[in-house]
Amino acid sequence: MKTINRRAFIKTAVAGGILGAAGPTRSAFGLGYPIGDKSKEDIGSSIEALLQGKSDAKIKSIESFTDKEANNLSFVRVVTEDGTEGWGQMAPFNADISAIVLHRNVAPLVIGKDPYDFGGISDLVRDRNLKYPWSYVCRALSGLDTALWDLRGKQENKSICELLGGTPGAIPVYGSSMSRKITAEEEARRMVALRESHGFRAFKIRIGSEAGHNQDAWPGRTEEIVPTVRKALGEDVGLMVDANSCYTIEKAIEVGKMLEKNKVIHFEEPCPYWEFEWASKVNKALKVPVTGGEQNNDPAQWQRILNAKAYDIIQPDVCYLGGLTRTLRVVAMAHKAKVPVVPHSANLSLVTVFALHLMGAIPNAGPHVEYTIESNPWTRELYQPVLKVRDGKVAVPNNPGWGVVLNKTWLENAQHQITA
Ligand SMILES: [Mg+2]
Repeated sequence: MKTINRRAFIKTAVAGGILGAAGPTRSAFGLGYPIGDKSKEDIGSSIEALLQGKSDAKIKSIESFTDKEANNLSFVRVVTEDGTEGWGQMAPFNADISAIVLHRNVAPLVIGKDPYDFGGISDLVRDRNLKYPWSYVCRALSGLDTALWDLRGKQENKSICELLGGTPGAIPVYGSSMSRKITAEEEARRMVALRESHGFRAFKIRIGSEAGHNQDAWPGRTEEIVPTVRKALGEDVGLMVDANSCYTIEKAIEVGKMLEKNKVIHFEEPCPYWEFEWASKVNKALKVPVTGGEQNNDPAQWQRILNAKAYDIIQPDVCYLGGLTRTLRVVAMAHKAKVPVVPHSANLSLVTVFALHLMGAIPNAGPHVEYTIESNPWTRELYQPVLKVRDGKVAVPNNPGWGVVLNKTWLENAQHQITA
């Protein structure tokens, strides 16, 4: 097994000043009950216990609130018979389709169920959708599941981070670029400015092209942007790259060697994500940590990915995977395999809020949370309090549930659907 495990990575990162004050801050996390006991080899049983809670009230209604124009977002409200409510969010984009799936394939199964039976509900939705595996069912389920967690947090007057045994605090974030249209010089310039203004200690740039069959966004872009940004940021800043399923094994190894020369600390999704055995081979051949998994939405497949040692750091997406419940199960598998987790959270909808709570609690949290540096109009003024990057960190919203209140006007303007 490659020795660039989390310890080695952290060691390199600390030596390079990448984590800065993050070390001591992170050690404050993940020490509480029930899933943060670091002495436990297997946190799976404590997670399962948490996923099989019991409440006095049953689920009465499930509503969705979908953005009518762009269809980027859909929020979910769950209300129980005693009038308690919780709010969640489905996976962004084509949210109108996810809302249809929620009301047709998911919500009717769940009315009358115990809202704290997170595991039972997730499994039931999977089982009854045998012929509709993953994608949209998981996208819809994530809205319901995250609303159920919010409901429980509010009932118990705890943030989700606290429900999971963590302590809300400020978590280091890395600045994540989503652009392949940007030139090397422009990318370097904006990252240097963001390092100065917000204190980011790590950044991620895009290389290759999405499912790109070895093609770059334009010829030579990858070979230019990596050294240009590295030089501009200096060696104290962590440089990460994302290839979004671009390369064959051979090309990924070739690019990886170039990344190593430029002291890149994270090579994301080098090969088509469904070919995780390819990533295993690339991982074995390279020193740079290979990472990935954002599209993988099946916990059983996640176990195979971990068994194959495809990634040194895994990046599940709470919304693509079907909610916090299924993500926690993957976290437990990764913990057993001694693999750190850095969730995929590529926009400032609630997916980043979910990632912050999770990372504030789990014992195998990686060094930072993904934080987009793009300004997306569709995520502006969605909720309060607004997330703010200060000294390279973002505070976990420290109120019951997810700790945020959704914008009332946004919800009033949304398309409303209800299953009761
Ligand atoms: Mg990615």
